[in-house]
Amino acid sequence: MKKFGFLLFLFVIMVAFPKGADASSYSAKIYLDGSELKLSSNVKVENTNGTVMVPIRVISENLGYSVKWSKATQTVTVKSGSNTIEMVIGKTIAKINGQSTVMSKAPVLRSGTTLVPIRFVSEKMGLNVKWDNKKKAVYLITPSTNIPNEGEDGLSTINGISFSDNRLMVAVSGSVNPKIMKLTSPDRIVIDVENAKFSKSFSSNNDINDTGTGELKVTGYPDVKLVRYSLYSYSPSTVRIVIDLNKAKNYTLSGTGSGSKVFIVDLNASTTEPGTNGKKLVVIDAGHGAHDPGAVSSSGKKEKDFALALALKVGKLLEKEKNIDVVLTRSDDTFLELKDRVKIANNLKADAFVSIHANSGPSAATGTETYYNRDSSKALANTIHKYLIKATGLKDRGVKYGNFHVIRETNMAAVLLEVGFISNTNDESKLFNTTFQNQVAESVVVGLKEYLKVQ
Ligand code: ZN
Repeated sequence: MKKFGFLLFLFVIMVAFPKGADASSYSAKIYLDGSELKLSSNVKVENTNGTVMVPIRVISENLGYSVKWSKATQTVTVKSGSNTIEMVIGKTIAKINGQSTVMSKAPVLRSGTTLVPIRFVSEKMGLNVKWDNKKKAVYLITPSTNIPNEGEDGLSTINGISFSDNRLMVAVSGSVNPKIMKLTSPDRIVIDVENAKFSKSFSSNNDINDTGTGELKVTGYPDVKLVRYSLYSYSPSTVRIVIDLNKAKNYTLSGTGSGSKVFIVDLNASTTEPGTNGKKLVVIDAGHGAHDPGAVSSSGKKEKDFALALALKVGKLLEKEKNIDVVLTRSDDTFLELKDRVKIANNLKADAFVSIHANSGPSAATGTETYYNRDSSKALANTIHKYLIKATGLKDRGVKYGNFHVIRETNMAAVLLEVGFISNTNDESKLFNTTFQNQVAESVVVGLKEYLKVQ
């Protein structure tokens, strides 16, 4: 089966790029706001008759848009803010926010990877796109006014709500001054954010009905039943968030200062903010989530599930450390935009950030990689990688530079781990093995402790 697949792949390549024809399969470079996107080693960019096609993981991992792939309908759905693009393999008619549009080249499926035209996707998401034929490079430029329509009414926006590590985290734009009430029978904490509304991206990424109410399922926290949210009042426009409790709890509020992008209602017994009292604060980020599965193995296993399982294990181990506080960007199968993952870490002024992923590529590709973006993250990358490769026992693919959003935009030492290849059957069986996960979690903690110089 494998061999046949490879031959078929070669055949497709030969048909798609006949020798001497105008079509060229050279790799194009992609720059986002001036800096080149360093793509994973297995990501192939194609230039077919002048249309640059990129794997959908570039759209999600490098550009930070949410991407959903439906095998059944062969449809790729890309979402960012209020914009949704739907593309179907082999079809040049795409849907932009429900309206049909013609694209220059249809998405293609190559060797299990879906390729989409980067200019089309970027332009529809509001980026300016330029092609330099001499350098064979695509330039993507974010317009300076990147939040049209929002903020014009003077209201702050609620961009995301998540719950992990017994903390409610609310991502906001604009200044907010949440009013918090502790209420009884039933026990609950009510948070009112006046002069605020839900952002368009919140409404499109979260479960929110036409009357402006929705809920966030919370599991694994015995004190918390549910988090509910609603547009509680129109005058003044007020967003209300309610934490339904199983028993009365105290809370601390942090991150409400001006310029803050996230405020936190902390239900942990300690009344100190995470990372204070001389403790180091680590943010662990499980990649992908909910409608974004990440890479999917041939047996149907999802990267998001591996990432969450490992992140929870790392989180558990770090919680036992007396000199480290830990915050998880997600602790269940929810989705956060890349920028919200970054906001959590930056707002908490974390000391280290670790994003957990699994790699994907040709079925023969195997091994462990650790990515850094900024020079200041190299030491963390080297230290974790040293222990990580021992723990995985897989091929050492090295410490590499990578232009991933979460490790580029964070302010602290930040690394992205590609623990193994979910697309390789041997790596895959290890990634989903509990003993292997425990070993890997342990190695990440050992690396973090050495880097942070804590006992
Ligand atoms: Zn990933």
